[in-house]
Amino acid sequence: MKYSDLASIYEALEKTSKRLEKTFIISKLLKKTKQEDIDKLVLLIQGRLFPLWDETKLGVSDRLVIKAISVATGISPVKVDDEWKTLGDLGLVAEKLVQKKSQATLFSKDLTADKVFNNLRKLPSIEGAGSVDQKIKVIAELLSSAKPLEARYVVRTVLEDLRVGVGTGSIRDALVWAFFDKKVKVNYNEQEKTIEPDNREEYNRLVEAVQHAFDLKADYGEVARMIMKKGEKAFGELVLEAGSPINVMLYQKAKDLEEAFERVGKPCAFEFKYDGFRMQIHKKVKNIKIFTRRLDEVTKQFPEVVEYVKKYVNAKEFILDSEAVGFDHKTGKYLAFQAISQRIKRKYNINQMAKNFPVEVNVFDVMSHEGKNMLKEPFKKRRAILEKIIKPHTKKLVLAKQLVTGDLKEAEKFYKAALKVGEEGVMAKNLEGIYKPGSRVGYGVKVKPVMESLDLVIVGAEWGTGKRSGWLTSYVLACRKHGKFLEIGKVGTGIKELEDQGVSFKELTKKLKPLIIKEEGKTVRIKPEIIIEVKYEEIQKSPTYASGYALRFPRFVRLREDKALSDVSDIKLVEDLYKGQK
Ligand code: AMP
Repeated sequence: MKYSDLASIYEALEKTSKRLEKTFIISKLLKKTKQEDIDKLVLLIQGRLFPLWDETKLGVSDRLVIKAISVATGISPVKVDDEWKTLGDLGLVAEKLVQKKSQATLFSKDLTADKVFNNLRKLPSIEGAGSVDQKIKVIAELLSSAKPLEARYVVRTVLEDLRVGVGTGSIRDALVWAFFDKKVKVNYNEQEKTIEPDNREEYNRLVEAVQHAFDLKADYGEVARMIMKKGEKAFGELVLEAGSPINVMLYQKAKDLEEAFERVGKPCAFEFKYDGFRMQIHKKVKNIKIFTRRLDEVTKQFPEVVEYVKKYVNAKEFILDSEAVGFDHKTGKYLAFQAISQRIKRKYNINQMAKNFPVEVNVFDVMSHEGKNMLKEPFKKRRAILEKIIKPHTKKLVLAKQLVTGDLKEAEKFYKAALKVGEEGVMAKNLEGIYKPGSRVGYGVKVKPVMESLDLVIVGAEWGTGKRSGWLTSYVLACRKHGKFLEIGKVGTGIKELEDQGVSFKELTKKLKPLIIKEEGKTVRIKPEIIIEVKYEEIQKSPTYASGYALRFPRFVRLREDKALSDVSDIKLVEDLYKGQK
């Protein structure tokens, strides 16, 4: 396929915000695609070069792209940088500068989607001395043969930020529209941008089957290839298999224990909610693999876990779900996630790291056991299997602590016990619930203490890029200490892009612009005046901010125009909340 055709499709997708229209555009493309190209194309249309579960990142910085644009167009990096400041999107910069250049020269040859895909996939493996220049060369080569519109999307793909708004839901539906067309006859009304399949029931069944295949494979590229080759038979073959990661089940939140009972039923299983990171553990014969929640493989980073699995899980083949929690190797005290997060990306001195920052694996679910798919089995049965195959060893590999009860008082006792030993809270799980990969279904809910919100003042911001250019975004927040304001984090979540949906970036920009004290590149300092209420999941110690603390997952709640600077939350409150968290 010519890359210019793909670029026009990207442009069409970018132009519409309607999901159904996007789906229609993608389905037309899929129908035209040859079988040997389908998996690449499905990745490219999502702006990806590797499937979701693949840990490989392109890791190309803005700076490197600026240099590549400069090499390809002969325009100095400083000028490219200037353009970036005005346009706010390196894709648009490349498009403009390639356009300029192309008025003078002729294109060398047509780019194909294949060529772009293959070249860019080489980037992560370029390492060592001279690798930066080598990477610049690879990108510049593509840009030299790119037409202006192609340059826009090559650059955005390189930066892993395609901005055409294609969600996995659109890909899923488009696959049904494209490949089961005869079965369901989807009628798309171009004028109204609506869709109506002839056979709604059949359509829904197929959508669900495709979704299920994706949940297992976490790669629409592979799902598409299988469907194209085998039609409906593919669904029978896309089965759960130890060794290839699946999307994990997610949980909803409940306000308190009573609500938890309402949602998951009485009695239910309560479990400690451990504060570590999710680990999916696979074993097939002797081969053990470990994946993170994002399905990155981290087997090498956790050699001790591989040993525990060999020794303490008594089965030949399985997929387990667990939470790994770090602890201090000297005192044995459990540590917050932050302390061990460095292990996940670690490439060197792995054994030393394992000694200094050991983890305990808390197993809480099993998705496959001795080749049998357990997803549709009730949770109580899955738990019974775990109890049978696991020989718990404290500080190594254990079963998640569990209490089955329908009694609120007992549940409260269990919840308090969890908080007392420093856990985040509890999970409540429906005993009959199945394991639904990739979904935030209500078979399990988490209950954790609600954190008091903070009133913080905005002291800085950044000029946005792309869709957000022209607006101040990413607001730097500060708390108060003896009349001074100390930074405690940044917030960008909870503020709306559209004005009629709540407090918008535009509205905040209007309020903040007159208060700008200093501007440096894209960042601005702002006179403390605008106070906002902020929610968050947790307060952490942090050397990054002057207050010594940072907020985890901060979220804008509302403007507090009713408050004065003297009402801004005091550092003392932050400290107390930090201490009281656990
Ligand atoms: P959250 O990240 O707040 O959405 O909470 C869900 C996460 O809690 C899961 O993704 C797991 O990583 C973690 N977790 C800790 N303990 C458990 C448990 N006993 N059962 C399920 N998830 C757990």
